[in-house]
Amino acid sequence: MEKKSSNSDSHSFYITTPIFYPNARLHLGHAYTTTVCDILARYHRLKGDKTYFLTGSDENTEKVVRAATVAGKSTKDYLDEIVGNFKDLFSKLGISYDQFIRTTDEINHYSGAIELWNRINKSGDLEKRSYKGLYCVGHESFITEKDLVDGKCPDHNELPQVLEETNWFFKLSKYTEAIKEKISSNEFKIVPDSRRNEILALLDRGLEDISFSRPANTVSIGIPVPNDSSQKMYVWCDALSNYISALGFGRTEDSLYKEFWPANVHVIGKDILRFHAAIWPAMLLSAGIPLPKTLFVHGFITSGGKKMSKSLGNVIDPLQLIEEYGAEAVRYYLARHISPFEDGDITLESFREAYNAHLANGLGNLVSRVMKMAEANLEAPAVIPEWEDMTEYFSYLEKFEINKAVDCIWAAITEIDKRIQEDQPFKLVKADKDRGQKIISELVVKLYSVARMLNPILPDTSVKMKKYIKENKTPSTPLFPRKE
Ligand SMILES: [Zn+2]
Repeated sequence: MEKKSSNSDSHSFYITTPIFYPNARLHLGHAYTTTVCDILARYHRLKGDKTYFLTGSDENTEKVVRAATVAGKSTKDYLDEIVGNFKDLFSKLGISYDQFIRTTDEINHYSGAIELWNRINKSGDLEKRSYKGLYCVGHESFITEKDLVDGKCPDHNELPQVLEETNWFFKLSKYTEAIKEKISSNEFKIVPDSRRNEILALLDRGLEDISFSRPANTVSIGIPVPNDSSQKMYVWCDALSNYISALGFGRTEDSLYKEFWPANVHVIGKDILRFHAAIWPAMLLSAGIPLPKTLFVHGFITSGGKKMSKSLGNVIDPLQLIEEYGAEAVRYYLARHISPFEDGDITLESFREAYNAHLANGLGNLVSRVMKMAEANLEAPAVIPEWEDMTEYFSYLEKFEINKAVDCIWAAITEIDKRIQEDQPFKLVKADKDRGQKIISELVVKLYSVARMLNPILPDTSVKMKKYIKENKTPSTPLFPRKE
């Protein structure tokens, strides 16, 4: 399917990752979200859709300011360095994003957030209220009495402060029924069903109004509230607005916004479901902006069945895996061995086993065997059909069943292996040259089909395979050397 469709099948496709907190290095969960988005973006480009892929960083947080101070750096230098690390990981993983939005970017982000605020305000959904509550510095937010363990925030082991302050409040409660209707009717689709049910149950209990700003004298970083210099925007309008500010919303008339909004898919982890399935759609409804079409919610990645943590010593760093096995191996594991809809698991052992079984002995070995036969016995490169039907494979990607899509590719690999065993073309070609050559050509064509399907999943491997096939050459070194 290399032919780009030039017909009316061509659509626009906008996909986003959440913006990531720059208070630490990205972990495997972030790598998963971003790889999934990349696979879907590459798939849509392959289909001929006009595709836009957004990622970025959520920078307006006090934690960053404090971390920068501790590191003896200016906030800007600190952020630039961390964002540099994010981009480095994405580049190593082959992430083909179109834009990296930073919420400290006054030119590209502020105006979108401000325009969104103004629209919500115009709808009468913002109101200044006095608020008194328990505030956890570690959380940078108010927490409730029932969150406390022995009077302390259990996540930060800190006593909360009693804080009274004036905030702008967003009348979220007003939108409970409207959001429920959008989700129930699938106009705003939440995948998988388990997450859809989870949010519907939450909506059944009702939503409470939320604090939408902080006093400017308590926070040192953030977007000023329009026409109220005493306040800065709180995370909701500051961060969630990135999905439209990045497209030029509130900034340029004739912009990407016109072309790509509403988003086709926001990909998120299950921990930020409520923000994206309740608060964000309410903000958009209030502002009179169409809702995104789909929210795809994935699970967490554990190691040995446990949450990765420093104290357990089971943290697997994506960079370390890339260094040892290569980015394509990491993409392979995330795509096939982590369920898109539930929690997935990885250990160094399970990773090495999967690598050796399916990449070194599986795909890599197959490419070497087939191309060796082809180079030795075919007088010219095999003739590759211009187009082929990949409906089944594509149908899995449409449903975000990325692991099943990859299973499809490996089923094709197994089939080629079987054919070699049954027909033994390397022997046959000596007894019956014509028939032997015909079978070898057919195997090469099938291998090319594997390369086509691999395009969104393992883009580098796909390109290499196509090159070997078109030049009728055996790889000089194995695509995936065995690891002990
Ligand atoms: Zn806390």
